[in-house]
Amino acid sequence: MSHTIVLLPGDGIGPEITAPTVTLLERLGLDLRFEEHRFGGAAIDADGAALTDDTLAACANADAVLLAAVGGPKWDSTDPQRPRPEQGLLGLRKGLGLYANLRPVKPIPALSAASPLKGEVIAGTDLLVIRELTGGIYFGEKTRTATQASDLCTYTAAEIERIARVAFEAARGRSGRVASVDKANVLETSRLWREVVHTLHAAEYGDIELTDVLVDNAAMQLVSHPSGFDVLVTENMFGDILSDEAATLTGSIGMLPSASLGAPGAPGVFEPVHGSAPDIAGQGVANPLAMFLSAALLLRHGLGLEDPAAAVESAVHQALADGLRTRDLGGSASTAQAAQAVLAHL
Ligand code: NAD
Repeated sequence: MSHTIVLLPGDGIGPEITAPTVTLLERLGLDLRFEEHRFGGAAIDADGAALTDDTLAACANADAVLLAAVGGPKWDSTDPQRPRPEQGLLGLRKGLGLYANLRPVKPIPALSAASPLKGEVIAGTDLLVIRELTGGIYFGEKTRTATQASDLCTYTAAEIERIARVAFEAARGRSGRVASVDKANVLETSRLWREVVHTLHAAEYGDIELTDVLVDNAAMQLVSHPSGFDVLVTENMFGDILSDEAATLTGSIGMLPSASLGAPGAPGVFEPVHGSAPDIAGQGVANPLAMFLSAALLLRHGLGLEDPAAAVESAVHQALADGLRTRDLGGSASTAQAAQAVLAHL
């Protein structure tokens, strides 16, 4: 079966890490068709908007979207009238109805020294943070006077149920445990959250072990006993904070992939957690591994191709075990050398 993948290289190091990723994907011998579109600052310069209608339509018609990164000093402006590269990211989330953000956190043994945690604390960690992406306090009504401000946090049962379902389904393919993170001792939205998660669990996911964890406790456990978690699922703001906290466990921004998913059957967006790294753009020294691992998530969650996904991850881990280190990992390998090292293990 043929799959269409829209490539959005974006800005900065984006094009440099996208090109070797396409080479890697082509090497897998799958029937993949690539379609590249301008995005972010590059699209502002050429088309006047970070995400054009044509690009959004191409993404909506694709099987999956592989995005590198957007932004850079060239487009930084405090003028609210000027288009900004980040508008492309928000437009894409909204346009594709992406409501689930997935960030796997699995420290790579060869890089355990890079973690800010002690080796014995981080050992065995393999967790997945699932963040609700379209509801909650970031999108509620806002008010402001000179001396008072408010942000409304709202969730519907339907919004909670669909993200809980993503978590339970993901847990089935892993070790079968879900920690639902909330603040149900204080927040009404959290009490609804807990009720809906438990109702769905009882009705359809009795095989999954479900625990409730208060968000403050979750933040503590992520650094004291991260290996105790499998899937964590939580609302938008808690997830924003916890997913960054979880990401730092591996110690290297150049290594972290993420997936954003919408309704079943709709295309997901797969991208590294890092930005466009304008400070090293054009030098050929960017670490392409987060982008490679994002391509693995695309294969697994976007196209349902588990074996090739695992093959890419294994090739990355083996290259690192063999000593591959780009500059951000304390070594001197170039982007091209890193790509070569991974391809050699595929
Ligand atoms: P950044 O992630 O781009 O860079 C932070 C630091 O990490 C820099 O020193 C950079 O050189 C390094 N780094 C990041 N990725 C790397 C890689 N693959 N290999 C080697 N080193 C890497 O974050 P920033 O500096 O805060 O932001 C730069 C630009 O990126 C800004 O315009 C920001 O808005 C944008 N940004 C975009 C996204 C996105 O597209 N999703 C996310 C974050 C930031």
